[in-house]
Amino acid sequence: MIVLDLEWNRGYDRTPLDEIIQIGAVRTAELGGPVLDTFQAYIRPVVHKKFDRGAKQLPDLRQSRESELSFAEAMEQFRAWCGEEREFALWGGDDLSALTKNCEYWQVPPLEIGRMYNFQTALAWLMGADQQIALWRAVDYFGISDTFDFHNALNDAMYTALIGRWLTQESLEYVPDHRKKKHRRVSLRLSSAPFVCRPGQAVGPYPTAEPALDGKSSRRPACPVCGRRGCVAQWRLAPGTERGVQDCYSVFSCGVHGRFLCRLELTRQGDGQWQGLLSVPEAGPELVQAYLTACEGGVHNCRHAGTGGRKRKRRSSRRRR
Ligand SMILES: [Zn+2]
Repeated sequence: MIVLDLEWNRGYDRTPLDEIIQIGAVRTAELGGPVLDTFQAYIRPVVHKKFDRGAKQLPDLRQSRESELSFAEAMEQFRAWCGEEREFALWGGDDLSALTKNCEYWQVPPLEIGRMYNFQTALAWLMGADQQIALWRAVDYFGISDTFDFHNALNDAMYTALIGRWLTQESLEYVPDHRKKKHRRVSLRLSSAPFVCRPGQAVGPYPTAEPALDGKSSRRPACPVCGRRGCVAQWRLAPGTERGVQDCYSVFSCGVHGRFLCRLELTRQGDGQWQGLLSVPEAGPELVQAYLTACEGGVHNCRHAGTGGRKRKRRSSRRRR
């Protein structure tokens, strides 16, 4: 499998081209497997006179500007590097459309693609999230070391490939149905693997309920079969609980055993502090009903509680993904 990522410049003029200025890719033996080889090419921008706001923030813009390589030459090298491989993966859908349009613009043959997977869509489905997850945020969720700058095509391809370790083949096959978005019923597809309920994990204390929802101990439920830690991106808040009590539900997944529902029961203690219990209860109709009821209530999108480098990543992620 080849995981690729592109950086481009949209410019401000009337030429409707997202001009690709960097191609980055890594080759993996299989989904989530070790990285075998890397490719990268900086491409000299020639179409637009100016750089758009996102492009100006690219960490390696200078390398592209100083490059001697044209898009056609870079594609030729990339094609040669890909060899017989026809299975590709991307983070999001924008890169593929940019690649196709650049090939048309420069009149070079398109990449021969057998299968193209969108890891971003697969991850959103696995996490039961109703919105796409930014790459830096996914990296953050999985505790992948973010030593390298985002928005460098090779680094982003590497991060995307590492996230592949958490995806399942089933999640890759998922195709979102945009037509029915408004009336879409939550598709649960929970794991059918038998498991024994384990005692819950204690959460807190926290001064308010909000940080309890974002806390690291709240967001890393264990797969009830193998114990591997999953990740919660979004909590569904059960409606109608009395003050001082909040039940929350979320879907999370184990790369091997599939999707599970977890519950976080938060209670305000006598001293005003919030404490809770994170558990993966038996997946019976009662739990599913509780989750679906909570889906009618509020949503809490989790925020990373850490500090380092967050501001920088936020800013540069404004552009896309
Ligand atoms: Zn598992």
